[in-house]
Amino acid sequence: MLTSEQARKNQEKYGFNELVEGKKKTPVQIFLEQFKDFLVIILIIAAIASGFLGDIESAVVIFIVITINAILGTVQTLKAEQSLNSLKTLSAPTAKVIRDNNMYEIPSREVTIGDRVILEAGDYVPADGTLIECASLKVDESMLTGESLAAEKSLEEAPAGAPLGDQTNKVFSGSFVTYGRAGYEVTGIGMETEVGKIATLIHSAQEKRTPLQVNLDDFGKKLSIVILIFCGILMGVSIYKAGHFDKNVFADAFLFAVALAVAAIPEALSSIVTIVLSFGTQKMAKENAIIRKLQAVEGLGSVSIICSDKTGTLTQNKMTVEDYYVDNQRVTVDKIDIKQPDQKFLLHSSMLCNDSTNVGGKEIGDPTETALINLGSNFGYETLELRQKYKRVYEIPFDSDRKLMSTTHDLKEGYAMLTKGAVDVLINRLTKIKINNEVREITSEDLKKIEEMNREFSEDGLRVLAFGYKELTEKKPISVEDEADLTFLGLIAMMDPPRGESKDAVAECIAAGIKPVMITGDHKITAAAIAKRIGILKDKSEAVEGAVIESMSDEELQEFVPKISVYARVSPEHKIRIVRAWQDRGNIVAMTGDGVNDAPALKQADIGVAMGITGTEVSKDAASMILTDDNFATIIKAVKNGRNIYANIKHSIQFLLSGNFGAILAVLAASLASLPVPFAPVHLLFINLLTDSLPAIALGLEPHSNEVMKEKPRPKGESILTGNFLLSIGLEGFVIGLMTMVAFMIGYKTDGALLAQTMAFGTLCMGRLVHGFNCKANKPVIFTKRFFDNWYLIGAFALGLLLIVAVLVISDLHNMFKVQTLNLSQLGIVFGLALLNLPIIQLLKRLRYGSNN
Ligand code: ATP
Repeated sequence: MLTSEQARKNQEKYGFNELVEGKKKTPVQIFLEQFKDFLVIILIIAAIASGFLGDIESAVVIFIVITINAILGTVQTLKAEQSLNSLKTLSAPTAKVIRDNNMYEIPSREVTIGDRVILEAGDYVPADGTLIECASLKVDESMLTGESLAAEKSLEEAPAGAPLGDQTNKVFSGSFVTYGRAGYEVTGIGMETEVGKIATLIHSAQEKRTPLQVNLDDFGKKLSIVILIFCGILMGVSIYKAGHFDKNVFADAFLFAVALAVAAIPEALSSIVTIVLSFGTQKMAKENAIIRKLQAVEGLGSVSIICSDKTGTLTQNKMTVEDYYVDNQRVTVDKIDIKQPDQKFLLHSSMLCNDSTNVGGKEIGDPTETALINLGSNFGYETLELRQKYKRVYEIPFDSDRKLMSTTHDLKEGYAMLTKGAVDVLINRLTKIKINNEVREITSEDLKKIEEMNREFSEDGLRVLAFGYKELTEKKPISVEDEADLTFLGLIAMMDPPRGESKDAVAECIAAGIKPVMITGDHKITAAAIAKRIGILKDKSEAVEGAVIESMSDEELQEFVPKISVYARVSPEHKIRIVRAWQDRGNIVAMTGDGVNDAPALKQADIGVAMGITGTEVSKDAASMILTDDNFATIIKAVKNGRNIYANIKHSIQFLLSGNFGAILAVLAASLASLPVPFAPVHLLFINLLTDSLPAIALGLEPHSNEVMKEKPRPKGESILTGNFLLSIGLEGFVIGLMTMVAFMIGYKTDGALLAQTMAFGTLCMGRLVHGFNCKANKPVIFTKRFFDNWYLIGAFALGLLLIVAVLVISDLHNMFKVQTLNLSQLGIVFGLALLNLPIIQLLKRLRYGSNN
């Protein structure tokens, strides 16, 4: 065992307990990657070519614009990476170590050589080491040995050179505890562990692309092909129209076609999704939901079923004992009399067959057990003293499949095994009963009374534990077979009140078209009573015990699940089947879990949700989201965030695509009408690479609204590009293109091509900036507070406006940007037409979606 000082020194000497990651990309590499896009390379070549042919200014401006755009891209990528990294730190694994004789929970990377580590079911083994204490420890070492059965450990030393799988008194980093408890001393960390030796450099895990990104990339590719063909045709047409063919004609046509392609192809879609998702996850982390997999954010938007644990998630997990049932009578907590031998024995048993501690007010352990020792201390019993007096010599730890826990104690005058657990399990193991300090055979009358009492407690929403014991003549290890032939001692009923916010969260969840389902290890009647109180269950018939689904086929289960809101006495296998049944019905399912056995169900669910406080490391590792407050209401908040983030991404995409479409329409119209091209290449690049990217990101960061919770969940697998969405893009793009062409025609009629291009450029650029406000919501927002609620958007608009006005007004820039000086009325027309996009598109929204109220 180390002191904190020794641990610090060892850390300095041996370094952190982590596997070396592959090199990260430097900012310079990220910057250079921004130029990797095929079209950008072509554009640079085209600009250089046209520079050689005399248009040096254009070439310089294009180069500057591309560079600024690359800087913007680099900053965004770095920021997104930063926020994803901070998420990783938040969900980093932890380990329990004993230093200075105290137990601390520390990040696993801080575990060092010589540390004493405590292991419990559900913990990851943080480093290699040798066992010092061991209680029925079983470890899953499949990651190292490929052996899927858990390995049983003991203090017995293995012969030198034994293969890993046979080293019974050693534990290895990367494996996890499936059962039991142990303490061990660390002998190897980081790359010196067995797993470190076989792991070659771990490359910093590439984030998998989310379904939305895959969907958008796919769309982007198809769209690119169409646009490239269009640009190719356009290039041919303009060469043809020129009437002759020379270097300059070709270079001009080529540069324009490439610029149009760069401007129209939405290559930034997928990276906007990354940026918005990663910023969204930061907001979620502040609201207690840590996202471990980015896909989960999207998935949350279409969750239609939430399967939640009861204890601690829907309830407070702050238990207090309310009643005893002992000597065949109910005793409320204020009437407990420890002068009565059986009541005293029950109290002692509940403190001894118990792993929780409460030292100086710091509670460590399972709240069910903490409630029991807290009651003991009310009667003046010091937990550690009592455990010292009646030493525990053997134990079979609690597990939620068996629903029992047993410990053997040295009672001085002999040994006794104390067992506590679920009433319905323990009752089948009873043969005797202790009443008024006398033991006799248990009768069916006694059993009936116990069951009645259990029902009565449960109907009050109380959690009930049964206690039994068995005297032993000798000190010998116990196994689950020994948990039989017990003498009944009593029942203890505890209250675990629902969380204050659960009822509202359940109501919000139902209003949002999501079905909440309670899945609990607790008794059916207790579960139903709590479920009813918080609104999950309306009728008793909606509650069943997990075992009823065992005889059902998968098809039968699929028919069955919609009728049920509460599953009690559930085993981890039931959980998986319930999730699958809902998934087979076409639902996206979120499922909570905390134990080591919950990991498969968490992986099976679309959104596995682990508990940050009470959850095991294994369950956290299997989950895609961790609740730092273990609270059901947080899941609902996360769903709201998920839906809002999705809506924002959609608005941002709508903004980009409709604007691009407007530009293409203008080019197409001019070409069909045999007019000059409406924009110079630098105009298109200016808009697309400078003034457009910031509003697009700002739209992704729109403040979240409650509106989204009034809608039904997004259908599973629905593409973001629904018919309705594409129609919006088409209509809005048309309006933007129309305004641009009106400006172009006015300019053309007044003073020819250059004025026409200047006015078209100004109108399109400003029109798109204004359009940012249209894209805030599907419904009109023009006369609402919401219009001004996004400061990022207002900022992006102001900056864009400043840039375009500077280009239009500062005459020194005119040559560079291929514009001509506008007089006041021409400026007025440009502003007016750009602004007209707002009322027209808002009116269209009003016609299609109704008003906002
Ligand atoms: P949830 O699944 O909603 O978290 P839960 O905490 O009741 O509910 P489990 O922890 O699997 O689920 O407990 C199942 C049953 O086992 C409980 O209803 C109780 O009767 C019994 N039990 C719980 N904790 C202990 C314990 N520490 N020792 C003995 N029996 C226990």
